[in-house]
Amino acid sequence: MSRIAIIGAGPIGLEAALLARQFGHDAQIFEKGHVAENILDWGHIRLFSPFGINTSEWGRGAIAKSLGHDALPGDDELLTGCEFAERYLIPLSRSPELTGRIHEQTQVQSISRRHFRKTDGIGSAVRGREPFLLLVEREGIQRVEFADVVLDCSGTYPHHQWVGDGGMPCLGERHSLTETNYRLPMIRREEFGNRTTLVIGSGFSAATSVVKLAELAKLDPQTKVLWIAKSQPPPYESDGPLLRIPNDPLVERDRLAAKVNELASLGHVSRAASPEAPQHPVVWFPNAVVKSLKSSPTYREFNGFEIELDDSQATEQGSALPARLTVDRMIANVGYRPDRSIYEELHVHECYSTQGPIKLAAKLLGETSSDCIAQTSHGSDVLKNPEPNFFILGSKSYGRNSNFLLKVGIEQVCDVLTSLGRDSLGRSV
Ligand SMILES: Cc1cc2nc3c(=O)[nH]c(=O)nc-3n(C[C@H](O)[C@H](O)[C@H](O)COP(=O)(O)OP(=O)(O)OC[C@H]3O[C@@H](n4cnc5c(N)ncnc54)[C@H](O)[C@@H]3O)c2cc1C
Repeated sequence: MSRIAIIGAGPIGLEAALLARQFGHDAQIFEKGHVAENILDWGHIRLFSPFGINTSEWGRGAIAKSLGHDALPGDDELLTGCEFAERYLIPLSRSPELTGRIHEQTQVQSISRRHFRKTDGIGSAVRGREPFLLLVEREGIQRVEFADVVLDCSGTYPHHQWVGDGGMPCLGERHSLTETNYRLPMIRREEFGNRTTLVIGSGFSAATSVVKLAELAKLDPQTKVLWIAKSQPPPYESDGPLLRIPNDPLVERDRLAAKVNELASLGHVSRAASPEAPQHPVVWFPNAVVKSLKSSPTYREFNGFEIELDDSQATEQGSALPARLTVDRMIANVGYRPDRSIYEELHVHECYSTQGPIKLAAKLLGETSSDCIAQTSHGSDVLKNPEPNFFILGSKSYGRNSNFLLKVGIEQVCDVLTSLGRDSLGRSV
């Protein structure tokens, strides 16, 4: 039996802990918030992949055993984040195999290898025979935990990327935006209705925010969305920002892409002078770059933002791009990044682009399909790091690459735990 420390009680950490228990290991989960913390943060949003592919056989089996088959959602059901947590993840965390093993509000701050500093024992098997040390903190009190294997399932949300040119913070960004500006807010009427919101980002998160705001404009007609998003490369640049996957098996994903592209195309900034433009809730600024932003009092009673756009981009797009925007609200859905600080004392070879572990990143770069549903896990060897028995699983394993799906994470869990069962850890397995 190995002592397996799992960081994060998100879907992948929970699936890993349950399988580890079923394989007879002593698994402990350390969770800095509560079970499903990140999913609940965007719980109002509907997942576009169905329940059946978001969950494991062993997880569904555990719930069926303790609560009965009827407690499980149907395989084809598309749940919101909250429903997924309430109907699957939280019941999973309460399964008898995990009783007393999930340590909530316990943050892992650092991981090291006992008696081996970063520069010691490079590539040596001796390094791998010492246990891991985990510095954890709960309610201001620190302690050290020991483990033979560490599975880092701590995700990437909510470690956001930046709005500025080339990915650095733009002038004023650090002072003007708070963490909440980078999340996926519930589009509440009292907060966004009849107001102007700037949405920045070119992926499905930003698209979700744009579509929800456009729906609100049907109730509150003065609701406006200014959207800064990259256009697709030629010859698709006029289609809108989102790439649609031919015959996309995830119907909801395709519906969202089609809807948001239509909103963007109709609201393309070059059409701003057209007679329909004032009635259309969205203005799309393709490829605009934010030079600076600052929060400022607006003519209403709350603080808004003043945004300065890069002039050189305005020239490229003709004079259609304004140099300045004033908005009431800002949503910066510009992507997430892994927090690598917790494993910086370990030997991890990272990709210099995605910041995910290099072997997996190389495989992902080599993938030709644009459809992330076509992806599979690439086996346990690809998930191995130079640091023996340290694995990065789940969304964090993809680093800044946003193509991760739960389906892949579940396969990773299965691959790694199966390989641990066979491998010698230098201790009894
Ligand atoms: C809006 C949105 C919609 C998505 N929709 C889909 C979808 O439809 N289908 C799909 O397959 N995927 C979807 N994804 C992608 C992905 O599946 C989710 O992000 C999923 O939550 C990833 O699971 P995870 O377990 O890897 O990480 P997370 O769910 O992010 O869990 C990580 C956990 O680790 C904890 N943690 C972090 N740091 C520490 C620390 N230092 N110490 C202790 N605990 C820590 C966190 O609090 C959190 O509970 C979506 C993502 C987003 C953002």
